[in-house]
Amino acid sequence: MSEAYHTIIIGAGAAGLFCAAHAGGRTLVLDHAAKPAEKVRISGGGRCNFTNLDVTAANFLSENPHFAKSALARYTQWDFIELVSRHGIAWHEKTLGQLFCDGKSTQIVEMLLAEARGAGAELRLSTPVREVAHADGRFRLGTDAGPLTARTLVIATGGKSIPKMGATGFAYDIARQFGHAVTETRPALVPLTFGDRFAPLSGVSLPARAFNARAGFDEQILFTHRGLSGPAILQLSSYWREGEAITLDLAPGRDLFAFLRDERQRAGRRALSTVLAGLLPARLVDHLAPGLGLAARLADQPDARLREIAEALHGWHLTPTGSEGYRTAEVTLGGIATGGLSSQTMESRHLPGLYFIGEAVDVTGWLGGYNFQWAWASAHAAGTAIAGQ
Ligand code: FAD
Repeated sequence: MSEAYHTIIIGAGAAGLFCAAHAGGRTLVLDHAAKPAEKVRISGGGRCNFTNLDVTAANFLSENPHFAKSALARYTQWDFIELVSRHGIAWHEKTLGQLFCDGKSTQIVEMLLAEARGAGAELRLSTPVREVAHADGRFRLGTDAGPLTARTLVIATGGKSIPKMGATGFAYDIARQFGHAVTETRPALVPLTFGDRFAPLSGVSLPARAFNARAGFDEQILFTHRGLSGPAILQLSSYWREGEAITLDLAPGRDLFAFLRDERQRAGRRALSTVLAGLLPARLVDHLAPGLGLAARLADQPDARLREIAEALHGWHLTPTGSEGYRTAEVTLGGIATGGLSSQTMESRHLPGLYFIGEAVDVTGWLGGYNFQWAWASAHAAGTAIAGQ
């Protein structure tokens, strides 16, 4: 005999638990992992950047840039902030509207579990789903804990990033099984690799503008043993493709040519590298010195040469060898094609009763709390639609 539920949600992560809090009825949340919402726990360096004060559709990537608008408008950052505050969780804005817990991210996990339990949802962990079938208006699930059935099935198993934490391509497999298209998936919000080229600079960080023809971000960059990281690079990684170059402006918003010309007037006997080390980290200047001839005296440089150096520092073209991949990517770009889903409810257009929410869908946020806001908003859209059935 199989156990019958109204709703089964596969994936007890951010979106799955939040959906359970709104779905009502007899709801079961299943997860193959031993603990729920592990990515929430490790998020934001352990403090969970749970949303952003400034959320617009422009902060998300998707083949259909309009798809996320409806869900984001109906469950906003202000709704989630109100919920967090109601649970007595203290928070602060760190930078660029990014909201973090003052304490630990486990407070958000506890809040999600309390909300799901409060709505009467049941949670079963360490329960892999072996197969999913649909017949006679019901979904039938083969699990290690025996067969289960439900009228409504919500897939909330996230993307492929951090496989060590149990991330799988399960959502994409189920989507394809029921006739959905899946867009190309790739690691995003991920450090870019450059072999050992920057190993000597490992640990150096500075504010910069990282950009390509598609996007640009003014934030910190960080040199690592493997290449480049830091918020500006992670953001740009979502807009980068293998083989393409990226450009770094190492002094965004400054006119380096004017600066060097003024310095030549003021302190022309100094070396270019000495003057530039007043603006940029000294180790970075040392690294750039041989290629740009920075050992030379400022006074000996004509305007054309100063202009050349300024242009090189405002537009340093670099071609990554690759990215660190799903091993460290914060999210998966792409996913279940939005054309097959209702933007109002996240329900499948191919099979009524089937829903896809969270990161599994082809909606990918910027760094800064946007991916969680999408998880909350898409989960709320599906959960309230299910409750209203
Ligand atoms: P998840 O939270 O990944 O949940 C999916 C659940 O499904 C998991 O519990 C998993 O065990 C389960 N599952 C997977 N496959 C199966 C299967 N086959 N059967 C059963 N269960 C399965 N975003 C932000 O907005 N702010 C941040 O501060 C932030 N920090 C991050 C830090 C790191 C290191 C990482 C990796 C990500 C971070 N993110 C952050 C992104 C954010 O964590 C995700 O976008 C978000 O968790 C997606 O929610 P989800 O519910 O769709 O998927």
